[in-house]
Amino acid sequence: MAEGNKEEAAVQKDENIGVFSEVFSARSGIDGQDGGMVTALLIWGMQKGLFDAAVVVQRTGGYRAQAATAETPDEVMAARRTEYLRVSTSSKLRELVACGKRRIAVVCTPCEAFVAKSMQQTLKAETPDVEVTVIGLFCFEAFNYAKLKKETQRILGVDIDKAEKTQIHKGKFTVHTDGKEHNCRIRDLDGAVEEGCRVCSDFSARSADLSIGSAGSPAGYSTVIVRSDAAEKLLEGIDIVKIAAEKEEIVRLSKLKKERAQKSACRA
Ligand SMILES: Cc1cc2nc3c(=O)[nH]c(=O)nc-3n(C[C@H](O)[C@H](O)[C@H](O)COP(=O)(O)OP(=O)(O)OC[C@H]3O[C@@H](n4cnc5c(N)ncnc54)[C@H](O)[C@@H]3O)c2cc1C
Ligand code: SF4
Repeated sequence: MAEGNKEEAAVQKDENIGVFSEVFSARSGIDGQDGGMVTALLIWGMQKGLFDAAVVVQRTGGYRAQAATAETPDEVMAARRTEYLRVSTSSKLRELVACGKRRIAVVCTPCEAFVAKSMQQTLKAETPDVEVTVIGLFCFEAFNYAKLKKETQRILGVDIDKAEKTQIHKGKFTVHTDGKEHNCRIRDLDGAVEEGCRVCSDFSARSADLSIGSAGSPAGYSTVIVRSDAAEKLLEGIDIVKIAAEKEEIVRLSKLKKERAQKSACRA
């Protein structure tokens, strides 16, 4: 974490959201999932020479998605927005190191953030100059692609493969397709949730360098949790509009997720 008296004093620890030095809402001007902060930070990091590559997630056909590498701002832009699926990013990280990349950003869910941070230690032992910055996304749960396709067809009458955008916000799942919005309650899609997600207790990506989500922010803004020196360095000088975030909402969802994980583990 941050060194020196000023930064040391600013670091706080919350039992629900982990270590942080700052929590704020921001919009970047990029038309992303929420405030476009993930995309803006990846591009800013590349422009400042902090990243020479990033692991992102991209659609491969319809709504299916997988990890991909981005080495230019255009490639980062092409990967913006969220697919609410669990995607493994660790093999791409290893691949980038093997290809000679040394300053790597990884965008991922909390479970993958934990893996990436654990891998960083092994990678550093093999290749000491590797620097991995993990941008973790808030995540209450992820869906199984095939089940989500079936359920959104049954409940909303839409083909998820044709979705221009999907959104989870305030208990609602929205599919944007053909210029229209189709909504249902997230709880109506319970049958499509990945089983492993029910016992997962990390909402805010506690292992990441910085965590980003929509909870705690108004529409069109991203909530940012700054957790490390690397995150503070990345944010320095970025041109964004910042407002106060509703931290209590992140705490509420983090507690709710922990409670669900405990109940699910007891049932198993
Ligand atoms: C499975 C999942 C569940 C989520 N649940 C919540 C939630 O309950 N509450 C909440 O506040 N936020 C949640 N989010 C985060 C939210 O959807 C946005 O990703 C976040 O607010 C960042 O918005 P942005 O505008 O800054 O992103 P953008 O600038 O649009 O960039 C989005 C980035 O996310 C990457 N990405 C897209 N899909 C995935 C994926 N499946 N896995 C890893 N990376 C991906 C893209 O490559 C891109 O780099 C979830 C994200 C995922 C992946
Ligand atoms: S709920 Fe947990 S296990 Fe499921 S995708 Fe999100 S972080 Fe990963």
